[in-house]
Amino acid sequence: MNKPVIAVVGRPNVGKSTLFNKLIGQRLSIVDDTPGVTRDRIYGEVEWCGKTAFIVDTGGIEPKSDDIILVQMRRQAQLAIDTANVIILVTDCKSGMVATDMDVAQMLQKSGKPVVLCVNKCDTLGEPSPEFYEFYNLGLGDPIEVSAVHGYGTGDLLDKAFSSFDYDENAEDDDTIINVAVIGKPNAGKSSLVNKITNEERCIVSDIAGTTRDTIDTLVENKYGKFNFTDTAGLRRQSKIYDNIEKYSIIRAKMAIERSDVCVIMIDATEGVTEQDTKVAGLAHEAGRACIIAVNKWDAVEKNDKTMQEFRKKLDADFAFMSYAPKVFISAKTGMRIDRLFEYIISCNDSANRRIRTGMLNELLAQATTRVQPPSDKGKRLKIFYMTQASVKPPTFVFFCNNAQLFHFSYQRYLENRIREAFALEGTPIKIVVRERG
Ligand code: GDP
Ligand code: GDP
Repeated sequence: MNKPVIAVVGRPNVGKSTLFNKLIGQRLSIVDDTPGVTRDRIYGEVEWCGKTAFIVDTGGIEPKSDDIILVQMRRQAQLAIDTANVIILVTDCKSGMVATDMDVAQMLQKSGKPVVLCVNKCDTLGEPSPEFYEFYNLGLGDPIEVSAVHGYGTGDLLDKAFSSFDYDENAEDDDTIINVAVIGKPNAGKSSLVNKITNEERCIVSDIAGTTRDTIDTLVENKYGKFNFTDTAGLRRQSKIYDNIEKYSIIRAKMAIERSDVCVIMIDATEGVTEQDTKVAGLAHEAGRACIIAVNKWDAVEKNDKTMQEFRKKLDADFAFMSYAPKVFISAKTGMRIDRLFEYIISCNDSANRRIRTGMLNELLAQATTRVQPPSDKGKRLKIFYMTQASVKPPTFVFFCNNAQLFHFSYQRYLENRIREAFALEGTPIKIVVRERG
């Protein structure tokens, strides 16, 4: 992927999410119209003149908090500075320029990142209102008049955004690259793993065009294939912005997860499984990503012939919600089983991308419903007419039935397990969508 990242930053209510939705264009599919799927979306792809970029609404990333706006804004802006290739600062023509805009503009300017200044809510075409000219004072160059609601000005905005970084045409086309997010709590060994991999002599490591010294992406090519590793570490810089390190590292993990094909959840074997580990793993699971649990520092654990089995049991219990994830005991220090980790990355990515023919699915459905009858309630029995795979990453299956109420979770789980068994879907979550058809 290695798509450039555009981050949208701005005060609450200036229209960031309206703009974001306008830019990504809402293509609703059979799966996406489930409530809650599109509404909470804060990452998307934007296409402009044959180029695509990744766009992030930083306003939506933050959990709701009572922090004063300026603190939130600085955090958002820092996040954008750390991760984006270009930043769109959204302001509001109706409220005019305010002190917070000035503060954030200065911060962005200091960072040296390209910034595009968007003055939103310019709803009438023609001569801009006097307020519009105030925004020149931000020192970010020519402001662009936009009406996110009507879609005016968004073309100019994208022209400017896409022209402010070197667009690498080749990186884009290479869909053989597997994007791997290495996530986990601080000190689990994430950077050590990426360093170990890149120091292998059989590895070709290259800098990705268009990214800056803040880069967190490492492109690796070895006998297993091509991988882009996103390391979420490196956030220990002392700064007021990072007053709440844990919260911040969760936000960073979320961004890395969104951009990934496969997540490696790294656990420190010398500390055992902690709540933060399961929390981070939960994010990857909820995002529908293929996942591997890597127990690191295995070299430093005193062991006998039962240690691994016992540890595995503990993992099975703590990560019961993602029992599909393979577990591997590694050492970033010695390199132990890193080859196995690569094999899992490949196989989990394959699972996540697998497409199963409708005919095969319905054969399986017929067998499974004969073996265990669908549930019934008050004389009414669930009837499943048909199933099909709607999408991949994660594999998403749509069941058409007579009554969704009767399609209990336990029966969904039963069918999910049959599908997993039959089609070897190790390493990826599966999504099930139930549709009623009279
Ligand atoms: P956010 O908090 O920055 O994400 O702002 P929202 O996208 O939620 O928008 C805040 C309010 O401004 C909503 O009521 C939007 O309908 C409104 N709004 C957004 N864009 C425009 C615009 O271009 N023109 C006008 N008049 N209102 C807008
Ligand atoms: P990060 O915060 O997750 O990126 O963790 P680091 O890669 O910075 O590692 C934290 C500490 O754990 C460092 O002191 C590493 O040397 C150590 N460490 C990392 N991996 C291993 C390992 O496999 N074995 C041992 N014994 N130490 C490790």
